[in-house]
Amino acid sequence: MSGWETVIGLEIHAQLATRSKIFSGASSAYGAAPNTQACLVDLGYPGVLPVLNAEAVRMAVRFGTAIGARIARQSVFARKNYFYPDLPKGYQISQYELPIVAHGAIDIVLDDGSVKRVGVTRAHLEEDAGKSLHEGLPGVTGIDLNRAGTPLLEIVSEPQLRSAKEAVAYMKKVHTLVRYLEICDGNMQEGSFRCDANVSVRPKGSDKLGTRAEIKNVNSFRFVEKAIQYEVTRQIELIESGGTVVQETRLYDPDKGETRSMRSKEEANDYRYFPDPDLLPLTLDEEYIEAVGAQLPELPDAKAARLVAQYGLPAYDAGVLTASRELADYYEAVARAVPSQPKLAANWVMGDLSAALNKEGLDIGAGRMPAERLAGLLTRIVDETISGKIAKEVFEAMWASGDSADRVIEAKGLKQITDGAAIERAIEEVMAKNPAQLAEYRAGKDKLFGFFVGQVMKATGGKANPAQLNELLKKKLPG
Ligand code: ADP
Ligand code: MG
Repeated sequence: MSGWETVIGLEIHAQLATRSKIFSGASSAYGAAPNTQACLVDLGYPGVLPVLNAEAVRMAVRFGTAIGARIARQSVFARKNYFYPDLPKGYQISQYELPIVAHGAIDIVLDDGSVKRVGVTRAHLEEDAGKSLHEGLPGVTGIDLNRAGTPLLEIVSEPQLRSAKEAVAYMKKVHTLVRYLEICDGNMQEGSFRCDANVSVRPKGSDKLGTRAEIKNVNSFRFVEKAIQYEVTRQIELIESGGTVVQETRLYDPDKGETRSMRSKEEANDYRYFPDPDLLPLTLDEEYIEAVGAQLPELPDAKAARLVAQYGLPAYDAGVLTASRELADYYEAVARAVPSQPKLAANWVMGDLSAALNKEGLDIGAGRMPAERLAGLLTRIVDETISGKIAKEVFEAMWASGDSADRVIEAKGLKQITDGAAIERAIEEVMAKNPAQLAEYRAGKDKLFGFFVGQVMKATGGKANPAQLNELLKKKLPG
C-alpha cells in the first residue's frame, strides 16, 4: 500500500429542516404513510409551478456564512434531466453553474492534533427524489414519493481528503455544523444526512488526480470509513496487478463490507442541464445576507476556542465537548457549578457520563443525569467528602436510582474517613497483620509502600482520605 496516495472528495446531502418542501407547501416531515405528503407540484403534474421556499434559502445562506463562503448575489436553478421511477417529473431541480454558496472552508482536527483546512467547492440547493421500497414487497417495487421535493443542501468538498479517517472527521464536522446552525436534524438513519464518497489513488508525489469511483449514498460514519478503505485497497490492487480503474458509480454493501459497480461512466446519463424556465434566478441583496449572518450562533470552532481560554481545557477536550451544542451546554452548566475544577468536570462528562449514556444509547438531552446532579457529585470530590475512586461507585448508584450524590453517600455510608486517629488505627492493624512485608519494607524494599496503601484502603472500604493516608503511612511505616 505504501507508494500510493489516497484522494477523496465528499458530496454531502443534508436535508434542510424546513416544515414544507422546497418548491411546494406539502409537509416534509419524516415517517408519514407512503404517498400522503406528495402534492401535484412534487409529482410534476402538467401546468403546476414551483415556488421557492424562503426558509430553505435562509438555511443555505446560514451555512455558507458559517463556512466563510461566498454567497452568490444571483444563483440559478437548473433542470437535471434523467429518468427514474422515483422521479416522476423526469428531472430534478438543482443548481449547476451558479450555486448559492461557493468557496468555503471547514477545519478538521487530525489524529496528531494538527488542524487541516478542507475546501468546500460549493453548496447548492436542490430537491430530493422519492424512494423505491423493496422490503416486505415480494416481486414488486413500491414507490413512495413523500420525500420528493424535500429541500437538500448538497455540500461538495475539494478532493483534499487523504484518508478514510480524514473523510470521516470532515463528515462529522459538517454534521456538527448543520446541527449547530439548526438547518438539518442530522438523523442519518432517516437519511437526513448522507454522502457520496469520490475515491481515487495516485502514486505518491504525483500531482495528477487518478481516476475516481463514486460510492453512492452512504449514511453512517462507520460505513463511510469502511467503504473508502475497501475501495482504496481495491483500486491499488487493481492497478498493481496491471489493470486500470474505470470511472464509475459504486454501491457499498454493509453486509458484505465491499463496494460493487452500479454503472460505469459510459452508461452514465448526460443530464442536459438547463436553467429551469419556471423559476426566476434567485437574487439576494446585501441587507438580507448581512441579516442572516448576524443571526449565527456561536459555532463549534469558536466555542472550542472559548472553552480552552475560559476553562483552561486541553484543545482535545474542547473539541470533544463541542461536538454538539447540547453537550457543550451541559459541560458549561457543570463547570459553572464546580468553578474550581473545570478539568475535573470535563473528565467526568467525557468519561463516566458519556460511557453511561453510550451504553444505553441515550443523548445528553435525555435528562437522565441533569447537570446539577453531576455537579453535586463533583462538589463532594472537591470538598473531599469522597475520593475520586469512591465517586465512581456513587456515580453508578446515582445513574441507577436517580438519587443525588448526597443521598447515595449517606445511604451507603461512603463518606471519606478524614479522622486521622481512625486512619492511624487502621494502619496499625495492617502493620500488625503483615509483619513479613513490614520487615522487608524496613530493610529497604520501598516498593512495598503501595502494598500498605492498598491494604489500608481495603480495610477502610476505600474510604480513607488518600492524602492523609499517604502522610500517615510515611510517618508510621519506618517505625
Ligand atoms: P460530479 O459532479 O460529476 O460528481 P465533480 O467534479 O463535481 O463531479 O466532483 C464531485 C466530487 O468528486 C467533489 O467532491 C470532488 O472533490 C471529487 N473529486 C473529483 N475528482 C476526484 C478524484 N480524481 N478523486 C477523488 N475525488 C474527486
Ligand atoms: Mg457526483
